Amino acid sequence: MLGAPKGSVDYAPNMRVLENFVAGAWTPIEGTGSIPVTNPATGETIATHPQSNAADIDRAVAAAVAVFRVWWMTPIPTRSAMMFRYRHLIWEAREELSRILVEENGKTLAEARGEMLRALQYIEHAAAATETMKGSVTENVGSGVDIEYIREPLGPFAIVAPFNFPAMIPLYFTWAVATGNPVIVKPSEHCPLTTVRLVELADEAGFPPGVVNMVLGDRTVVERLAEHPDVVGMSFVGSSEIAERVYKLTTGYGKRCQAQGGSKNHLVVTDTAELDKCLPNMVSSMLGSSSQRCFAGSNLLIYESVYDRVMDRFLAAVKVLRLGYGMNETTTLGPVISPESRTRLEESVDKAVAEGATVLLDGRGATVAGFERGNWIGPTIVSASPGMEIFDQELFGPVRCLQKVSGLDEALAIIDASAYGHTAAIYTEHGGVAREFRQRANVGQIGINVGTPAPIAFYAVGGRKSSFYGSHRGRANDAVDFYTDKKVVVSTWHIDTTEQPGVDPAFEGGAR
Ligand code: NAD
Repeated sequence: MLGAPKGSVDYAPNMRVLENFVAGAWTPIEGTGSIPVTNPATGETIATHPQSNAADIDRAVAAAVAVFRVWWMTPIPTRSAMMFRYRHLIWEAREELSRILVEENGKTLAEARGEMLRALQYIEHAAAATETMKGSVTENVGSGVDIEYIREPLGPFAIVAPFNFPAMIPLYFTWAVATGNPVIVKPSEHCPLTTVRLVELADEAGFPPGVVNMVLGDRTVVERLAEHPDVVGMSFVGSSEIAERVYKLTTGYGKRCQAQGGSKNHLVVTDTAELDKCLPNMVSSMLGSSSQRCFAGSNLLIYESVYDRVMDRFLAAVKVLRLGYGMNETTTLGPVISPESRTRLEESVDKAVAEGATVLLDGRGATVAGFERGNWIGPTIVSASPGMEIFDQELFGPVRCLQKVSGLDEALAIIDASAYGHTAAIYTEHGGVAREFRQRANVGQIGINVGTPAPIAFYAVGGRKSSFYGSHRGRANDAVDFYTDKKVVVSTWHIDTTEQPGVDPAFEGGAR
């Protein structure tokens, strides 16, 4: 993957130029332009690739179509065995993959290693296709009539990922593949390198050519895949505005779509919270992965009776975070993904101040010695209130809000008024309060003394309101439902049934 592909601009000597993976082969991209992949801590361009054009995309779809029946007819235990092998290869490569993740995404090594462990669990669950593909049978629904209910794969699915989990989210494909579908994976243009390596390993694992395809590019790839007549559905993860747009586009063509969107997650700190135990959890929820997580706590809603104490201790704990390059093992907070993202975050604080917010901790203008071209912004904590953009809109970076609330009702009213419905968490030692919160908070995931209530791979993930568009959540058994159709077969066999014992089918009940 070195050198200049045909049909594209000139590249610097030794620049790594990425290719698509189509029908089991690395394939130069014919489209034009140049999309750089930049290390967000060093500012260096570490790879580049042209934008895939319609022909590039159509080739990948054709490869998927060509292999579909072969893959569908491949025995399920064989498909599962390939998943086991794939899991083993990723396990062996997990440290290398973690480092690629740090380079292209900016996470800390500890965060990247954590993502790899979670990603492995995706494959473990997907490999259970021998169990999840089971159907059911009811004998004698009529005289001599049986019903079978079987699961079938549907055909090529598109998997579109955001930048913030470059290993986990592209690996949604494992459920599609294990259930018998070929895929076209489109990683984020910011972070394609982890996916490139994952696809190389999929090839090594032995998936037949065409089962796993990868196409690089921006929104135009997503739009082409959504409208392509041979793509049967799309799993999309990204920001809410795009999720809504992609969902409408894809379903407008009569296809399946699950589109996971953004979030604004509220963490409620009550007067019975065990602060010593909960503080590390709050800090990691709100600032882990530089707050570039859909599960990140965004707004801390603190009961007024404990507000001053919680605020002081929270700020003290946040100040201990060490901003820097993720490859350095002592770093606990990495950069944000792009200079545009940093500018947007800083401007959101400026705007909030103009609206009357108070900056309690200011990370704007942060620098890291030796990494002058990195996208740095330190933890920025703002006292803000509903109605301010900084409080209401997803920020996706280490700018977080604190707000005083009178009690549970006010906290729940704020959560209810939010346009998002991904997660909400409560810190309390009072069971009744926790139970009421669990019932009344209108979100997809609830945390009780857990600020990042991310379900493990064996459970589905999804939100409400603008955080999710679709009917089947991502991952686990919902993914199996999403990537398969349930076919019902009603059958009878022409043997003489008159001698068979049994009650007259016209029986209406009651009389003997
Ligand atoms: P994004 O919406 O900018 O991009 C996501 C994907 O969509 C990328 O592959 C991108 O190329 C493509 N895309 C961008 N614009 C498009 C358009 N107009 N039409 C079609 N496709 C388009 O998101 P991002 O910045 O890469 O990722 C961060 C976002 O993802 C945040 O909002 C975060 O909350 C969300 N996210 C949600 C979940 C979840 O489970 N709900 C998980 C991870 C990330």
